[in-house]
Formats: sequence, C-alpha cells, structure tokens
Amino acid sequence: MERIYIGMGSNLADPADQLRSAVQALAQLPDSRFVGVSAFYQSDSLLPGQPRYTNAVAAIDSTLAPLDLLDALQAIELDQGRERHERWGPRTLDLDILLFGDRLIDEPRLKVPHYHMHARPFVLYPLAELAPASLQLADGRTLSQLLADCPFIGLERIAP
Ligand code: ATP
Ligand code: MG
Ligand code: MG
Repeated sequence: MERIYIGMGSNLADPADQLRSAVQALAQLPDSRFVGVSAFYQSDSLLPGQPRYTNAVAAIDSTLAPLDLLDALQAIELDQGRERHERWGPRTLDLDILLFGDRLIDEPRLKVPHYHMHARPFVLYPLAELAPASLQLADGRTLSQLLADCPFIGLERIAP
C-alpha cells in the first residue's frame, strides 16, 4: 500500500456537495482504503470572472498503479459532469494526484508530485491537515517549508 494525496476542487453546481460526492466515490475505489479528508477551503478563482472555488485534500492508501488511479479519478470527474473546454475553466470537479508515496512520475498523462502544488495555498493548507509537516516532497523541501513560503491569504476554512 502507498499513501496517496488527492487534491479536489470545484466551482460549479454546489461545490461543497461535489466534494462530498467525490469523497464517497474515493471511498469506493478498488484495491484502496480511504484514509481521510481535510476541511473544505473556499477561495476566489485565480482567473477573473469565475465563481469561487471550494478545495480539499483526501488521502487514500492503495495498491493501484498510478495510471489506473488516474483513469479512476477521471471517471469520477466525468461521472460528476466534468466538461473540459478551456484550460483552467470552471469545473464541477477536479481530482489531481498530488503525491503518490514517494514516487516521481513523469509520464505524458501524469506528473507527480503535481507541478503546481508547491505554490497553491488551497492545496498546501488542507494537505497539512492530513500529512506530517516533515513530509518531504520530491525536490527535498518539506511541507512545513512550503507552507512557510505560502501565506494563508484569501482562504476561508469551512466545515466539510
Ligand atoms: P492543473 O493541473 O493546473 O491543476 P487542471 O487540474 O484543471 O489544471 P485538468 O484539465 O484536470 O487540469 O487535467 C489536464 C491533464 O493533466 C489531465 O488530462 C491529466 O492527464 C494531466 N495530469 C498530469 N499530471 C496530473 C496529476 N498529477 N493529476 C491529475 N492529472 C494530471
Ligand atoms: Mg487541478
Ligand atoms: Mg486536474
């Protein structure tokens, strides 16, 4: 079993409800054990003109191969009405693999650690609810170092 952290985000069609449904779906993944989910965090979209986002992080333990997990996550996104139009467009559900054990994955469809997580407060703060501050990322920096460089600005923590 490897510990996997999954970033979740939504800004359409009742975002908190989308995240709760996603948690139910993650709990049903094959060859996996659901570990937990952070609180939900709301923030303004990084791009102007989009509704506010709700984000959270979930942890699972799994023996799934990384690309099989990605397939399963994309199936959950589609099941919850995800449509891809423009990059970073509004979405009912986004599920990103943040960390997969201590693996470094560089495939066309899958880069792990997730390339933008280091600078995203709506990823790092929920992740810190589930992972130890000493968690080391691929480039050697710890979660606590990343948090120190990523102020808690513009985030609103809400109950799950
Ligand atoms: P961002 O990656 O900046 O968070 P996004 O999540 O909105 O943007 P998507 O449209 O969800 O981007 O995904 C685009 C592609 O990214 C997917 O088709 C997938 O193959 C690829 N991808 C690469 N690395 C990952 C990862 N770690 N987790 C999920 N998808 C990934
Ligand atoms: Mg994303
Ligand atoms: Mg994504």
